[in-house]
Amino acid sequence: NNTALSASTGGKITVCVRKRPMSNSEKSRAESDIIETGRGMLSVHEDKKKVDLTKYIEEHRFYFDHVFSENDNNQLVYQNVVSPLVDKIFDGGNATCFAYGQTGSGKTYTMLDSREGLYILAGQDIFQRILNPQYKGIQAVVVFYELYLTDVYDLLNDRKKLHVREKANHSVCIKDIAEVSVASVNDLYSVFEYGNKNRRIGSTGANSESSRSHAVMQIQLRRPKGSNPIGHTIGKLSFIDLAGNERGADRGDSQNDYNTRREGSEINKSLLALKECIRALDMGKSHQPFRQSRLTLVLRDSFIGNSLCCMIATVAPNSSNCDHTLNTLRYADRVK
Ligand code: ADP
Ligand code: MG
Repeated sequence: NNTALSASTGGKITVCVRKRPMSNSEKSRAESDIIETGRGMLSVHEDKKKVDLTKYIEEHRFYFDHVFSENDNNQLVYQNVVSPLVDKIFDGGNATCFAYGQTGSGKTYTMLDSREGLYILAGQDIFQRILNPQYKGIQAVVVFYELYLTDVYDLLNDRKKLHVREKANHSVCIKDIAEVSVASVNDLYSVFEYGNKNRRIGSTGANSESSRSHAVMQIQLRRPKGSNPIGHTIGKLSFIDLAGNERGADRGDSQNDYNTRREGSEINKSLLALKECIRALDMGKSHQPFRQSRLTLVLRDSFIGNSLCCMIATVAPNSSNCDHTLNTLRYADRVK
């Protein structure tokens, strides 16, 4: 029931930033760390040249709900921003966590790292809570899919291409998507590992491939209801590892063929629509622009009614990524 908790005031959106540590190659190039983190605050020190070509440092300051430094682990991120989302799904709502940032900034490490990503920490928490007598009978079901251009691929069913349906009551469903029951953290892990092998990275593990698609993993809680084998969904937690936000922006080379441009423009479109939908959720608007992209259409449930959203903007610390970092921070700043 979507109306039950709609009286709760604001606080539907949490926007945070996570800075990753310097990589070995960044260290070996002796790149400088341009990001300083504080409590809820982050500043970027950008090297600029004056008209007379002497250098000066320009400081850009941003404030967010949470700022995680390179020393903060996934457990801390979990406790601060994902644990309230798990509360929400046991309370009958939907909760969604997005990782937004350039390729290589730590989105996958944060969300879908096999052993310690937020999805598995959420799984531990969920299975712990299900032991509580008041939740007796609740079952967890997982779906895992990838969005590339406007196509949806089922990662739990051999990358089968799926069809998105908008029903008469405006609810959106992905037809025939594989739903896998999970009864333990180990189950969740196995299902993830299985699906992850079906991602666009294939076996090469190349970041450039996976960064062109959005990955969506959802854990639904269901209460078996009478003889209905499908059960009754009480809440849904979604983890979205978004496509790299640098797509489209910096591809002015000969590689910039039709497909690459199409990829870039599709990704840009979905990230812009996402920002608009999250803002609309926060302002309690009844008209969300979720039809503006395939991503926001399939995630419609995340932006309506009794929902919570968390965006984790991930940034790299090194100076050569400064422009991408500022783009990411400006986007996140406008979402909140
Ligand atoms: P993205 O998914 O945004 O392209 P990844 O998650 O693949 O980026 O991260 C790029 C690299 O940086 C990986 O080798 C990853 O293990 C490492 N990394 C990212 N974030 C962190 C972090 N917070 N702590 C330690 N290593 C990290
Ligand atoms: Mg990734």
